[in-house]
Amino acid sequence: MILLNTCHIREKAAEKVYSELGRFKPLKEARPDLKVGVAGCVAQAEGREIMNRQPLVDLVVGPQSYHRLPELEAEARAGRKALDTEFPEEDKFDRLSKRPRRSHGPTAFLTVQEGCDKFCAFCVVPYTRGAEASRPAPRILQEARELAEHGVREITLLGQNVNAYHGRAPEEEGGVWSLARLVTALAEIEGLDRIRYTTSHPNDMTEDLIRAHAECDKLMPYLHLPVQSGSDRILKAMNRKHTAAQYLELIGRIRAARPDMLLSGDFIVGFPGETEEDFQATLDLVEAVGYGQAYSFRYSARPGTPAAERAPVDETVAAGRLARLQEVLGRQQRETQLRMVGRELEVLFEKPGRLDGQLVGKSQYLHAVHATAGKNALGRVRRVRIIESAPNSLSGVLVGDG
Ligand code: SAH
Ligand code: SF4
Repeated sequence: MILLNTCHIREKAAEKVYSELGRFKPLKEARPDLKVGVAGCVAQAEGREIMNRQPLVDLVVGPQSYHRLPELEAEARAGRKALDTEFPEEDKFDRLSKRPRRSHGPTAFLTVQEGCDKFCAFCVVPYTRGAEASRPAPRILQEARELAEHGVREITLLGQNVNAYHGRAPEEEGGVWSLARLVTALAEIEGLDRIRYTTSHPNDMTEDLIRAHAECDKLMPYLHLPVQSGSDRILKAMNRKHTAAQYLELIGRIRAARPDMLLSGDFIVGFPGETEEDFQATLDLVEAVGYGQAYSFRYSARPGTPAAERAPVDETVAAGRLARLQEVLGRQQRETQLRMVGRELEVLFEKPGRLDGQLVGKSQYLHAVHATAGKNALGRVRRVRIIESAPNSLSGVLVGDG
């Protein structure tokens, strides 16, 4: 069976699914018992339409129904088309086996929250992933302990809107926990050295979470905090519910709490109605913040979202703006990396590098770092003096015995 995991966030990603499926045709002709399935958000959004458009598909399963995969697989094996894009009542996480695999490296993702209630005018997430829901804190703590016991040193807490987390607190305490409270509790787990979380919305960056960045050593100084645009007019049209000035003020408070915080962001250019002046405001905001790294996209109209009804910006104009923005963001990334040269960073080594005797890992700022080191450094945090910056990584030498 081939199972394609798919993304629906932009049109390009969604369309790629169909070209990919087309490529399986000869495989399926050669081996008629081969089954083809589509999982993820394209499956969720398009459902049976996928099978209509590409009849070789045997199985379609949305992200909320992964615990039903064994039944769906059996159905497909029996020669029937299998489909599940429901939002079932039961908690899929309870039904999925979470026993950490032995092959786990020193880092792991842990989903703590799913869905989104924000309804940004361009975004399909509230439709494909449903309403915001947080997993109970005790379950997350239990999974994190198991991961740590299996050698995981760094956990990234995942959620479409992770800092809106409000999960059920442990029985003895009652009430709900915020993300900050959850992070503080996770930090007590022995063997767990690092905690990260992604992706956050500016309006959910609460005081307690900012304080956690100042007080919790295990919380890494890297924050992905998308703003999308620097123009108040466009932010309003996007339904982001904050202004550029409010975002900058927030960044100021975050940096006051954690001066070395490396900031990352997401940007959309060419949102319907964006003028040259609006775009200039985005460039100004980028200059004011200084991002260590960032993702930027040309606006993609998504069916069913409010913005898809609005008149688009000319494609060439949008492409030109994206190139200009990426030039500035690229420069900021290079400058940030160059500032690391000569410094000693804490690197969690994850795997062998491309060169013999070399390991690769991540600094506290999430930069990939290469260094010559013995295999015994794998899964450990060691100090590395950075000597060189390459386009997407740093390299350096171990300091002392780490
Ligand atoms: N929850 C996160 C982001 C989720 S989607 C947040 O609110 O920031 C990841 C990124 O994809 C978004 O930040 C946005 O920059 C981009 N994106 C989402 N929909 C898009 C669209 N229709 N066109 C272009 N980019 C889009
Ligand atoms: Fe999409 Fe993020 Fe906005 Fe939610 S907050 S609608 S996930 S961009």
